[in-house]
Amino acid sequence: MKKEDGPLILIIFNMKVVNNFIESMANVSSWNVNLGDDVDLPNICDRTLSCAGCYDDYGPTIDLTSSPPDRRRKLYKRLGENWFPDDWKFKPEWKEKIKNHFKNSKNPKYFLFTGRGDPLFYMPCIKAYMKTYKELGYEGYTSVSTSASLLTKERLKSLVKWGISEINFNLVATNFHPKTLAKMELAKQELNVAVELPLLDVYEKQFMHHLPFLNSIGLKHLTLSTARICSKAGAKKLQSVVPRTTEITKVSKHEALIKNQPMMERIMKEIKMKNYSILVKNN
Ligand code: SF4
Repeated sequence: MKKEDGPLILIIFNMKVVNNFIESMANVSSWNVNLGDDVDLPNICDRTLSCAGCYDDYGPTIDLTSSPPDRRRKLYKRLGENWFPDDWKFKPEWKEKIKNHFKNSKNPKYFLFTGRGDPLFYMPCIKAYMKTYKELGYEGYTSVSTSASLLTKERLKSLVKWGISEINFNLVATNFHPKTLAKMELAKQELNVAVELPLLDVYEKQFMHHLPFLNSIGLKHLTLSTARICSKAGAKKLQSVVPRTTEITKVSKHEALIKNQPMMERIMKEIKMKNYSILVKNN
């Protein structure tokens, strides 16, 4: 599992409501569950064609020379949304790892469900992790990152019941579809909603168009994500949407970044100019 402690970059404009969680984000201890890699299940997702920046290339054995296959959508097409195996069980060693991770930390806790598979395909895993956090006596802020294509009233009810604090919508995955925006409004009645946007020019126009809506709905925060390349095959997928002149920074044999500072500045300028109450993070 990927474990991250330490500062996140926060950029705050015109905040009318200052929230304790966001204020304390610089000192949180977090535990990320990457679904399905971290729970011994295959990655599955129905939206892989829409997300240029997401490829099935998570893991320490994969580097920028690798070209692993991306079978997530094929798996979805073959098995559908009710694919979850009946015999899956939460392993006791996962609980031990979580305990070890937090044993010397007094920081507020942050729990994230993310991954190369869409977390809503793994509802039993979310339930099992939430139960484990509770058993360990942990309280914290919990976020589920998703395209929301599988979000229904029933699933939303379950997430609320299990104690999820926030749904972080990846709107590019459904091309800002009105149905997804309606799901955001529905979710907002029950928990916090946030948005994560990959900093790729191809998504900017649609995003700017929907910014007034995002402001009106009362987003918890907006994360502007630096596009990360982790494999040769992932780079090839990105090539279809980024101009040839795009600057790519190699940071290790496992990772290269497309920083796209100009797009971030344009978005922040728009938020400032329109006096929107949106808290922006960059990761
Ligand atoms: S919806 Fe999420 S998991 Fe699926 S392709 Fe997009 S970013 Fe990746």
